[in-house]
Amino acid sequence: MKQLGRKIQSKPSNRKQYASNYSNEVFDVLIVGGGITGANILWDSTLRGMKSILLEKDDYASKTSQATSKLIHGGIRYLKNLEIGLVKESLYEKKLLAKISPHSMRILPMMIPLYSFMEKTIMRLGLSFADFISKNRNEGITEDLIIPNRFLLTREQTIAEDPKLKRENLVGSIVYYDYANYNPERHTTEFIFSARKKGGVALNYTKVTKIAKESSGNFLIYVTDSISGKESILRSKTVVNASGPYADFIESIAGVHSEKVLVRSKGIHAVIRKITSDKSVVLKKKDGTHLFVLPWRNRNIIGTTDTVYKDDPDSMRVTKKEILELLDEVNYSYGNGNLGEKDVLNFYGGLRPLVEESSNVSDNTYSASRKTEIVDYKDFGMNGFFAALGGKYTTSRGVAEELVNKLAEFLPGKYKPCQTKEIALSGGNFSDQKTLIKDVAKKFPKLDSVKLETLINRYGSDTFSLPLDTNLHEFYKLENGEVFYPEEIDFICKNEDIVFAEDILFRRSGIANIGKSDPTVIKKILTRIGKNLHWSPRRVFMEEKSIYKRFDLV
Ligand SMILES: Cc1cc2nc3c(=O)[nH]c(=O)nc-3n(C[C@H](O)[C@H](O)[C@H](O)COP(=O)(O)OP(=O)(O)OC[C@H]3O[C@@H](n4cnc5c(N)ncnc54)[C@H](O)[C@@H]3O)c2cc1C
Repeated sequence: MKQLGRKIQSKPSNRKQYASNYSNEVFDVLIVGGGITGANILWDSTLRGMKSILLEKDDYASKTSQATSKLIHGGIRYLKNLEIGLVKESLYEKKLLAKISPHSMRILPMMIPLYSFMEKTIMRLGLSFADFISKNRNEGITEDLIIPNRFLLTREQTIAEDPKLKRENLVGSIVYYDYANYNPERHTTEFIFSARKKGGVALNYTKVTKIAKESSGNFLIYVTDSISGKESILRSKTVVNASGPYADFIESIAGVHSEKVLVRSKGIHAVIRKITSDKSVVLKKKDGTHLFVLPWRNRNIIGTTDTVYKDDPDSMRVTKKEILELLDEVNYSYGNGNLGEKDVLNFYGGLRPLVEESSNVSDNTYSASRKTEIVDYKDFGMNGFFAALGGKYTTSRGVAEELVNKLAEFLPGKYKPCQTKEIALSGGNFSDQKTLIKDVAKKFPKLDSVKLETLINRYGSDTFSLPLDTNLHEFYKLENGEVFYPEEIDFICKNEDIVFAEDILFRRSGIANIGKSDPTVIKKILTRIGKNLHWSPRRVFMEEKSIYKRFDLV
């Protein structure tokens, strides 16, 4: 994980809120960590009427939540470990995410090639069981996201569908459907900004450095602004540790420890030129573990890996050696060994926060459970301190619900019940895409239809809030054929806590996640960002350099 390694002395102009603005207030809930877990807890607790604040030391969704395979999935793989509860929970939460944020989800066919009749039988049984426990999977879902039935393909049909698959011993394949999360980094911030619209507070680039209790029983939370270095103290009745792979550090600065052990498991992905059809393929690595080749934004994502990581989380980097090994694994079972370093357009990695009993820690993290652990530290001498550890992106809404139930029990006030199953996120307020397109077209009758659909695909019902200018014909065409518009940049710069260019290029918009684009296009985008944020030409130049540095593979 990248440390900032650069301090900007002058205040970036769009940061409207700082921790020091809140020094005189007492919050009900203070959340440490702005990944998907913290974002969901902020959203849920704010909707229930709690006075909540979230603090993130870098940018929102810049750590594990930025490193996913972009799947909102039913967790079929966990059936192998007989983790029925986790599969059930994942299938349920997958449906709820499609319901509350339909604009962020896409249906994704997953093809698993089968290499023995035994495997075929086991997969059929497993998926029949998953179908059975998710009978209502399409209830309340917009028609664009209705999950079709799974089906089997014969060997011949499988080869016709994907000629690049390894054919030796191939007996057929099974195709089932999950959702792809088009841009999880943006999706995470949608929880945060939706909460902000309801009164929640969120601050990025604000690091928690110490947690103590004062005699009143409230917590004192010491924070440092990661940009200016300014220190402040905040007060809250409860604290939630949602810092993912940093959870043990937060325990240390609070002076508490639970019995569980946090194991960090490193996983990497590469974004490569498109080599599949629109179906994902689930391949087997040499050691029998699985590997995805996922279609995404006219590219493929390949991944992932699973290795215990024991160093400082902030020093985590994806290495060239790891990427070459990943390519080698794909070449082993797919595409006749054609992939090389030249095909890698981007890469990323993250640390899974896995929670283990101290007696059960092993170096095989692939088989370790992905279930979440909610810890109430009253059992460890600190009343009002809680943690949500481990888990999946997919199950984070449910985790937040369970945790906020505990907060509601602990806090003295009376709060509303959980509403995150029903209330759509900002952008998700529409019944179906066709109607939304018609409604937006009514408001902006002169808007070009391609632009209209592109924006609706990205922002859903928030398209109404974009500062659309029907006389502005400028656009930025990326290397994968996608088009972005100046109004998007303006909207994000104005509303979404942008401090560095990478916040917008790698997270809020995802422009750079597909790999490098034409430098003149990137320059234009950076100039537009600079104009919005009042950057000097030198600052624009420095930001440009730092964007390109992200693509260096060493
Ligand atoms: C390779 C890989 C692939 C995955 N694929 C999927 C997938 O396809 N689908 C799925 O459902 N799940 C997937 N997961 C799991 C999923 O990514 C995680 O469960 C989830 O992102 C964890 O989110 P989090 O908010 O708990 O942690 P994080 O996203 O890491 O957030 C924790 C935040 O806390 C902040 N923080 C730390 N210390 C401090 C401090 N002192 N002060 C303030 N802030 C602090 C960090 O900067 C960080 O942003 C994958 C994980 C990996 C690694």
